[in-house]
Amino acid sequence: MEKIDVMKEYYDAMADNRIVPYFQPIFSIETEDIVSAEVLCRLKQDNGNLILPEGFIPILERTGEICDLDWYMLEKACSLALYMDVEYGERIYLSVNMSRRHVNEWDAVERLCSIVDSYCVDRKRIEIEITEGYRSHDFLLINMIDRIREAGFSVAADDFGKGYSTLSFLKENHVDTIKIDKSFINGNIDHDNTDAILQGILDMSDTLGISTIAEGVETEEQMLFLSHNGCSLMQGNYFSPPQSKEDFIQFYCEFNGCECKSKKEKDKKKISIDLPELPPI
Ligand code: C2E
Ligand code: MG
Ligand code: MG
Repeated sequence: MEKIDVMKEYYDAMADNRIVPYFQPIFSIETEDIVSAEVLCRLKQDNGNLILPEGFIPILERTGEICDLDWYMLEKACSLALYMDVEYGERIYLSVNMSRRHVNEWDAVERLCSIVDSYCVDRKRIEIEITEGYRSHDFLLINMIDRIREAGFSVAADDFGKGYSTLSFLKENHVDTIKIDKSFINGNIDHDNTDAILQGILDMSDTLGISTIAEGVETEEQMLFLSHNGCSLMQGNYFSPPQSKEDFIQFYCEFNGCECKSKKEKDKKKISIDLPELPPI
């Protein structure tokens, strides 16, 4: 698609609520739990086709409009977190992507807090993934990250090892988590020193006390390699692809055996209505 067509499609989709969140669970191999889920945007075309972020995010990064998309996706994430609280009593944790472009917004951290607070979601339950698609000044970025963490959120360095990712994040423990880029995981781990690089990243984060998530885990072999080398948090199609909101809720509830409260109430009422009247004694 031409750049101009992409942008027209994007604006139309924003206006029609066709930019939708998908959710990909993050698993702990150690506890065999879903520990959180990453929120990923999709553009739903009129004909039902989904356009992946690579089709439009690079342009939004260049124009700066990525910031509006991020705020919109944060609202979607908080709305799911609130829904799961109210309907299922489940306090889910979510990871939301945030472009480095936000360093140019003077009120980014205040806005982040005010959106999350307005949904009554505990800030601890939102991890901000700083993405790698835009080059910003390290000093400004680290300052923003520190303020996000001071406000009570956790922060992950996304796509670690790719693009503009920087080791200065690690120098003074500015991030809680590093997400190892999928290009190190979902190729052949035996080739091109990948196993040594992975081992090095895992050892380093262990020494620094930073948690690691491996993204793009596609095979059992990759899962075993990572878990033998001390990486317990994983995300990838081997466990589950990103899913629509409805599918994710069903997947999450089946996995955790949780029941919808309002449905339970409705069923209770139905039972009491359907009960036959007892004959007088
Ligand atoms: P990311 O944040 O690194 O997200 C992980 C990407 O890996 C997702 O691609 C996900 O679908 C993909 N993935 C997960 N498991 C597997 C696997 O087993 N194999 C393979 N080959 N891929 C896997 P997706 O959804 O296409 O998103 C691409 C990127 O777009 C994201 O990478 C993120 O940088 C960006 N993005 C997505 N949503 C947002 C958003 O709301 N805001 C911003 N700023 N960026 C976003
Ligand atoms: Mg991410
Ligand atoms: Mg990533």
